[in-house]
Amino acid sequence: MTTEPLRGRAVIVGAGLAGLRGAEALRAAGFTGPLTLVGAEPYRPYDRPPLSKHVLSGHLPADVTQLPSDLADDVEWRLGTAAQSLDRAERIVRLSDGSALPYDALLIATGTRARPWIHPEESRLANVFTIRGRDDAARLRAALAARPGRVAVVGAGFIGCEVAAVCRELDLPVCLIDPSPSPLSRVIGRAVGDHIGAVHRGWGVEMRMNSEVAHLEGTDGRFTGVLLKDGSRIAADVAVVALGAARNTEWLAGSGLSADKGGVDCDDRGLCLDEAGIPDPRIAAAGDVARFPHPLYGGRRVALEHWGHAIAQAQHAGRLLAGEDPGTPYAALPNFWSTQGDMVVKSVGLTDGADAVAIVQGDPADRRFLAVYGRAGRCVAAVSVDSARWLPAYARLVETAAPFPPTDPATDRPLKKLAIQDPGFA
Ligand code: FAD
Repeated sequence: MTTEPLRGRAVIVGAGLAGLRGAEALRAAGFTGPLTLVGAEPYRPYDRPPLSKHVLSGHLPADVTQLPSDLADDVEWRLGTAAQSLDRAERIVRLSDGSALPYDALLIATGTRARPWIHPEESRLANVFTIRGRDDAARLRAALAARPGRVAVVGAGFIGCEVAAVCRELDLPVCLIDPSPSPLSRVIGRAVGDHIGAVHRGWGVEMRMNSEVAHLEGTDGRFTGVLLKDGSRIAADVAVVALGAARNTEWLAGSGLSADKGGVDCDDRGLCLDEAGIPDPRIAAAGDVARFPHPLYGGRRVALEHWGHAIAQAQHAGRLLAGEDPGTPYAALPNFWSTQGDMVVKSVGLTDGADAVAIVQGDPADRRFLAVYGRAGRCVAAVSVDSARWLPAYARLVETAAPFPPTDPATDRPLKKLAIQDPGFA
């Protein structure tokens, strides 16, 4: 790895959160040369978390979500233009408007897109929505403001749960549908997901867990309801398909980089790997699109869809491309938050593969608690519900892979033997 200061031209593909913070990091590290940000959307980088929360509820217009930035106006913006291919031999990015951008350093930050409903003709019915971008949120907000008789949310992950909570805030009937036994259970397991489900039920969200959608039905091109695989129907006027995200890597086909629908592969510094596993010293990736070996998880390759990670990894990559030696691998502790109505769920670490969970603070009955996840006798993750003040202490236990169950006696209640449960991952 060269640690020479970058000379020449830097190009960032993807004008989202990671692209923006990567550009700022390049400048902060002393790179003064030409810098171009290419963005498929027509907008300057904006913030996505409010889209499924305050924008849908009507508290924030979709067009005031632009991210603050200290980038000077010596940056070239190529917005509304997608990168179509990458020629590494010529060091050129080809764009959808037919132009070609030469680069000496390239940051790949193309993020993800909402995974569409599996039957394309059904996803084209009027009033069927996904939510990833600002325009998606504005359209869905308009549909909710028209006060539909019922909203069907397909998928009870974080975004599906946030949308369901907003519907209840707006006093709209909403049905949350998922094949899992409880909301969020693929991410936080059933033991904790059941508590989240109880909160949603308390708000009046109808739950159809253990239920798979067969078809989105429509009449005259307009969505009218959901047909479940068990043959039952749920009448609704609006469908929100919240089935996770697909990574935007197609434009890298033929580039020789190791990339597929799971992300573009990087080494532990963030440099992209070619198909032989050799890092390209001129190309790094950051944010949702990057798959990298996480030192805290034994080098397991992960791709994280977390706001804080997009910033931290882009800053790391920007410094690296500018020629600063970051010294250590990128190892930020994964962390995430989700605001559902007046409930805030936060997590640190990665729950996958956890074989045990224990509620270590608070009490689900009060809707304030913190759960720690263990794997092979070590703390691997913690999830807090309306009790984030406890999280930093447990983040340290996860970071240091402390023994599970945690023995730290700091607690808000009399010490008692922890109940260790099976986390209940499907
Ligand atoms: P993105 O923000 O997706 O930016 C990538 C950009 O690249 C996009 O603008 C895209 O149009 C552009 N692009 C794609 N392909 C091309 C191409 N070929 N050429 C040029 N440009 C291209 N995280 C949390 O931690 N907490 C939350 O509460 C939370 N809420 C969320 C709510 C919603 C509705 C969504 C969608 C995400 C949420 N996230 C949340 C996740 C967080 O927003 C993402 O992790 C973050 O936006 C990732 O940033 P990114 O820059 O990697 O990708």
